Amino acid sequence: MRGSHYYHEANVVSNIRETIRVNTLVLRLNEGLNMAPGQFLMVWRPGEGEIPVTPSLIQGETLSLTIEKVGFTSNRLASLKPGEKVFLRGPLGNGFNLSLPGRYLLIGGGTGAASLTPAYLSLASKGVEALFLVGARDTENLVYISRLKELGVRFKVATDDGSEGFKGTLPEFFEELVSKDRFENVLTIGPEKMMVKIAEKCVDYGISCQVSLVRIVKCGLGLCGSCVLDPFGLRVCVDGPVFYGEKILGSDFGRFMRDEAGRRIEIVQ
Ligand SMILES: Cc1cc2nc3c(=O)[nH]c(=O)nc-3n(C[C@H](O)[C@H](O)[C@H](O)COP(=O)(O)OP(=O)(O)OC[C@H]3O[C@@H](n4cnc5c(N)ncnc54)[C@H](O)[C@@H]3O)c2cc1C
Repeated sequence: MRGSHYYHEANVVSNIRETIRVNTLVLRLNEGLNMAPGQFLMVWRPGEGEIPVTPSLIQGETLSLTIEKVGFTSNRLASLKPGEKVFLRGPLGNGFNLSLPGRYLLIGGGTGAASLTPAYLSLASKGVEALFLVGARDTENLVYISRLKELGVRFKVATDDGSEGFKGTLPEFFEELVSKDRFENVLTIGPEKMMVKIAEKCVDYGISCQVSLVRIVKCGLGLCGSCVLDPFGLRVCVDGPVFYGEKILGSDFGRFMRDEAGRRIEIVQ
């Protein structure tokens, strides 16, 4: 068992373009990682930065990372070529609890659709009934769809403009589904304001809801406080990134985060 400070070396096998802003890197590691769905890795390129990423596929020594280009390091990682190296620290944090009884509804917005895939596959391998909802603004921004088809995932699509699947947002699609069908569990990764709406609805419907949060994670070890969720003092890197929605509603969840300098700033989406 390696400590959380240990770096695993990995080579890029392929780099798949998902959308104009998102790429999936397929990596081959020097050793298998024992990683639970929802846990994350700190992905490092010497001299180019280190960022947290939740893998989109974990299969022995093969791992996929689906990365949205938002700043310097994510742009650099998303443009790596086969044969280039990355270094991975982890697995870190707490993943999803997949042993709760009942049916599961997985809701992934943006790259969240990719990061939720290991949870779906783990449930499916245990014979647990699950349905995956994938959403984006429009068809061009849907992520990971061809991989979901290859993997035999049972999924439905929602687009804000109706260019594919249900016309509307994921919370709207979620409401429509749960008014007709019963799910005992929801797992979600996506924009925080979307996850807040889903977590609130789950409280109304008595559904257990697990949400995976994104914050600026620096150390990944619970020391620096950059990913703290006020007023509870929960650190996304060690207490999360997965939390039960009802336990963090009313906190900074969906409202505030810390910027690079540690200032509390409003979350815009
Ligand atoms: C547990 C966890 C899992 C994640 N998994 C994925 C994943 O699977 N795929 C993926 O594409 N991204 C994921 N992220 C987000 C990713 O880590 C950030 O997008 C990345 O750190 C940005 O680094 P950068 O150097 O490219 O951008 P920077 O130059 O650091 O930042 C560019 C802009 O984005 C803002 N920003 C940076 N990081 C964050 C953040 N974490 N939250 C909100 N705004 C931010 C900055 O304030 C700045 O305005 C995850 C984050 C966490 C905490």
